Amino acid sequence: MRNKEEMREYVEKDAEENDYYLCPDDDLLEDLIEGLVENEKRYGYPSCPCREASGTKTYDSDITCPCEYRDADVEEFGMCYCGLFVSKEVNEDPSKLGPIPERRPDEVIKAAEEAKGKGYDKKVVSEAPSVEEDIEVWRCTVCGYLAARDTPPPVCPICKAKAEKFEKFKGFS
Ligand code: SF4
Repeated sequence: MRNKEEMREYVEKDAEENDYYLCPDDDLLEDLIEGLVENEKRYGYPSCPCREASGTKTYDSDITCPCEYRDADVEEFGMCYCGLFVSKEVNEDPSKLGPIPERRPDEVIKAAEEAKGKGYDKKVVSEAPSVEEDIEVWRCTVCGYLAARDTPPPVCPICKAKAEKFEKFKGFS
C-alpha cells in the first residue's frame, strides 16, 4: 500500500506521461491524494476519491484512478471528475476548476451499487490480483476505445456501446 508521498509520485508520473497537470488548488490536491491512499488501504486499489466504490474490484475497475473517464473529461471539460488531473488551460487559470457532469453511465453506477457488500473481504483483498498483474485488454468495436480490465466494461464510457460490442484486443498489427 502506498503512503501519501508515494501516491503523489504515482499521480505526478501519470500526469507527466499523459501531458496533464495536477490540480492547481493545493488543498484540494492534498485531499484527493489522501482519499486515494485511504481507498487503496480500504479496498486494495486506489478507487476514485470523489465517487463511492462498491468494494468489489470488478465493479470498481472503471473508477480506479486514473479512471476510464478521465481522458474524455479532460478533453471536454479540462479536468477529470475530481479535478485531480487538469489541462494546461485549467492549470493556468484555476478559476476554471469546477463541478463537471458525471460521465460514468447510470447502468454502471447501479450495477456497482448492487454489488456492494458482495466485495472482497480483507483476506481476499490480500489475495486479489494486483493492479499491475496481467489483465485483458478490451476494444470497443464501435469507437475503438481500449479498456484494460478483467471483463469488458458494461458500457463504453466514450460512445455508450454495450458490453457485447467489446472484443478482446489482440494488439496493433
Ligand atoms: S475522476 Fe478519475 S482520474 Fe480523477 S481522481 Fe477520480 S479516478 Fe482519478
